[in-house]
Amino acid sequence: MTSSTGFVYHADYLRHDTGFHPESADRLLSIMRKLEQQNLTTRLEHILPERAPVEAIMYVHTREYVQKVAEMSALGSGMLDPDTPICAATYTIALLAAGGLLRAVDSVMADDNALKQVFALVRPPGHHANASRGRGFCIFNNIAIAAEYLKRAHRLKRILIMDWDVHHGNGTQEIFFQDPSVLYLSTHQYPHYPGTGWITEVGAGEGAGFTVNIPLPIGSGDAEYLFALTSILVPIAREFQPEFVLVSSGFDAHWTDPLASMKVSTSGFGAFADLILAIANEQCEGRVVLALEGGYNHDALGDSVLAVFHSLLRGTGALPESDTVSPNTKVLQRIEDLKAVQRAYWDF
Ligand SMILES: [Zn+2]
Repeated sequence: MTSSTGFVYHADYLRHDTGFHPESADRLLSIMRKLEQQNLTTRLEHILPERAPVEAIMYVHTREYVQKVAEMSALGSGMLDPDTPICAATYTIALLAAGGLLRAVDSVMADDNALKQVFALVRPPGHHANASRGRGFCIFNNIAIAAEYLKRAHRLKRILIMDWDVHHGNGTQEIFFQDPSVLYLSTHQYPHYPGTGWITEVGAGEGAGFTVNIPLPIGSGDAEYLFALTSILVPIAREFQPEFVLVSSGFDAHWTDPLASMKVSTSGFGAFADLILAIANEQCEGRVVLALEGGYNHDALGDSVLAVFHSLLRGTGALPESDTVSPNTKVLQRIEDLKAVQRAYWDF
């Protein structure tokens, strides 16, 4: 059976092995085990990645930084920052992670229109890496490389990046801060690592208004997230009219996650995917590529990825029912404050 939904995976993604670390190979093994248990691997198109060419990495990273990662890997080990160790395989596997995003994008952009959505099950993750620095478990910024590739190789002019990882994607924000062709929108626990992502960070120069931060208080769950997404993401996306939707898909906002303090449920991530798909179906013929970012409770991670795939396989997308989106008063106020800032750029 052919499917309009695909996944990127390569066993070599397990080879970025830095010993005892929350961002471990077991994360991907848990996901793949769950996919196989539910026979999803036979219902989904499997896309095998190749390493991204270094030129593609340098769309968003400096030559010096790429060389630093290559040299540290050649030495066999090193630390990019106190959270981000490197092993001998890291450089080539980080190229393979970015390459997974390039294959995903090419598959969705192919002339036959056979694949609509692809989830790139890659590691190491990327959204904390900026032009010259890797940090927060991230080596190369996979999603940013994909966005630049869509602009350069596929000549797209408006790309939406939704980042629902529990951490703010500071690297992605920095890379596109002055770029009006890439709209970066993030929900994240605030305050939390890496410290950025307040509502007043809106982009600069021609990019002013094309960075949208939704910082959410500790303990926010499905209702708060879905309220934020329907109040902010949906109207902005309709006005922006993206030609392609990219998702930095972390699952560390799950209520069981050991690295954060949010309360999103497993089915909540399915509802996020439904909402993204509704936007993509309306705006850009359903074109969505998701990239795995965080998520550190392995069971919850696998189950939440399943919830996203079930949404993609249904294919219809859906905006949430209004009775599921009544948030607490603190979040209501936060969204009003955010709208007051973003009203300079968007109609609400
Ligand atoms: Zn994260």
